[in-house]
Amino acid sequence: MESIGRGPDARSTDIVSGGGTPRWLASMLRHCSKCGAEIRLTALPEENRERLACTACGHVTYVNPRLVVTTLPVDADGSLVLIRRGIEPGYGSWAQPGGFLEVDETVGEAAVRETLEETGLLVRPGELVGLYSRLEAAVVTLVFEAEVVGGDVRTSSETLEVRSFRPAEIPWEGIAFTTSYWGIRDWVERRHPEIEVPQALDGRERF
Ligand SMILES: [Zn+2]
Repeated sequence: MESIGRGPDARSTDIVSGGGTPRWLASMLRHCSKCGAEIRLTALPEENRERLACTACGHVTYVNPRLVVTTLPVDADGSLVLIRRGIEPGYGSWAQPGGFLEVDETVGEAAVRETLEETGLLVRPGELVGLYSRLEAAVVTLVFEAEVVGGDVRTSSETLEVRSFRPAEIPWEGIAFTTSYWGIRDWVERRHPEIEVPQALDGRERF
């Protein structure tokens, strides 16, 4: 496993693999969803890591990452549509539209729904640009390239501004998240290899 490495989806994370449930997440999980008693990290005979097990009924609360579905909407003249975020995290910075996958929809449906909610644009999801692990946030971010097929640009309560950028004019220093940077960078490198993109961003904290 070590010779294979962490894989390209780990580029957006600094956290070492195998560190268990992030503390901030474990601190939000205190009670058994079955019986309401306290749950604690416990070594279980059949498991290779400690699990959050109920002290009363033994029910195990499994903690897995959530999936964030995002799109890179490309309009008719080949520009990339980005949003300036109106909520934290990343308030005031640029990102691609997206959000958490709901339990009753497909990833394609989530991509269409989130993009419509945040930009007013109807998109048709196309190729997968990438999947990016964020161990810090316990999420995996999926990035679709998407074709704008309808709708009208509008902002929402979560969006300050919706703007399209020529691929050579991406506002790299104003990008909100590490995963946004990697997704947009991978898209530019795939579709416009002639464009030079920054190989790293500055050291400020990202999500
Ligand atoms: Zn219980």
